[in-house]
Amino acid sequence: MIDSFIPYGRHEISEDDIDSVVRVLKSDFLTQGPMVEEFEKAISQTVNSKYAVAVNSGTSALHIACISLGLNQGDHLWTTPITFVASANCGLYCGASVDFVDINPQTGLMCIEKLEQKLKEAKISETLPKIVIPVHLAGTSCDMPKIYQLSIKYGFSIIEDASHAIGGCCHNTSVGSCKYSDITIFSLHPVKIITSGEGGIATTNQEGLNARMKSLRLHGIIHDRSLFENSNVGQWFYEQKYLGYNYRMNDILAALGLSQLKKLEKFIKLRTDLIEQYKEYIKDLPIRLLEVPKGVKSSYHLAIIRLDNKKDEFHRHIFDSLRAKNIGVQVHYTPVHLQPYYKKLGFSTGDFPLAEEYSKNSISLPIYPSISKKDFERVLKTLDDLFKN
Ligand SMILES: *Cc1c(COP(=O)(O)O)cnc(C)c1O
Repeated sequence: MIDSFIPYGRHEISEDDIDSVVRVLKSDFLTQGPMVEEFEKAISQTVNSKYAVAVNSGTSALHIACISLGLNQGDHLWTTPITFVASANCGLYCGASVDFVDINPQTGLMCIEKLEQKLKEAKISETLPKIVIPVHLAGTSCDMPKIYQLSIKYGFSIIEDASHAIGGCCHNTSVGSCKYSDITIFSLHPVKIITSGEGGIATTNQEGLNARMKSLRLHGIIHDRSLFENSNVGQWFYEQKYLGYNYRMNDILAALGLSQLKKLEKFIKLRTDLIEQYKEYIKDLPIRLLEVPKGVKSSYHLAIIRLDNKKDEFHRHIFDSLRAKNIGVQVHYTPVHLQPYYKKLGFSTGDFPLAEEYSKNSISLPIYPSISKKDFERVLKTLDDLFKN
């Protein structure tokens, strides 16, 4: 008998989610309406930000965040190579040039010392970044107070890519509260901590950024008559002030997001329990989970292990063996600078050696709230068989 497929991550939808979506389908609004506003308020309350802007994907949130912070041709945007391509692509959308900061291999996060060193050099060559995007890989927040200090010294803006990290904390500060950044973005893709099917949210405490992002998701249109260039116009009139997009979230998705948000704490608790079990179980195996720094509460979007044996062939062997047993492991991520598109922009192997090594010996194991005890035990048993033989 072939064992069923166990993915590395999966959404969890229950009856209350379905009811909440059905209620919207029977209401007067399908596209952006009262549920979107309610969802934004609930997100702001949860993460402790002044404002939230809901859009149709995490990628759209990154894009309008970059535009709102004035990113343009000739500017520089830095992020980490160990992320989904969207964290870098948003810079290219704005015509900026994109560069990377190598990682700390223990945590997989952007290395603060390397960031500081690169900033010192960029100051001399007058290529300081306009925006830095730290990514909270696997749900673990980067050291935001330190990055914030550097932003004051070197004058860059910060967008936190918290696609993995809703519900997380850093030194008692909720991820998304923007205490140490200008904007934080979350993704609501089904594989993330909570989902709206597809969707994204940007949070900020700055009124100007909030207004700008809300306008950019709607073609750059404004409705506030006090800001119009034309006075004495009819009630039907609106003004397009910027070049924006159709990045709207809709009420159907917002209703799902809102219902999922109520279960955030529960989901994170279940994920944390799974991590604790992995930790206990792999103690005697030649593998380690990524470290979570002191003072950080991770939301454990991913269960990433690193292999003690650093040989490429060994990594390939373990990965293929797990897949052969129908365990849907994944690598998060192939370094962005090694993607063909980025290589054509001038990046090459050897540019960020720690990220490259990390990618060649890390594997994401299954972790999601609804994983059955039987499936989880099968994963543990398979690991045991693989490493003890
Ligand atoms: C998922 C993800 C995104 C993009 O989110 P979408 O909602 O799929 O557009 C961006 N950054 C990271 C790190 C992600 O994991």
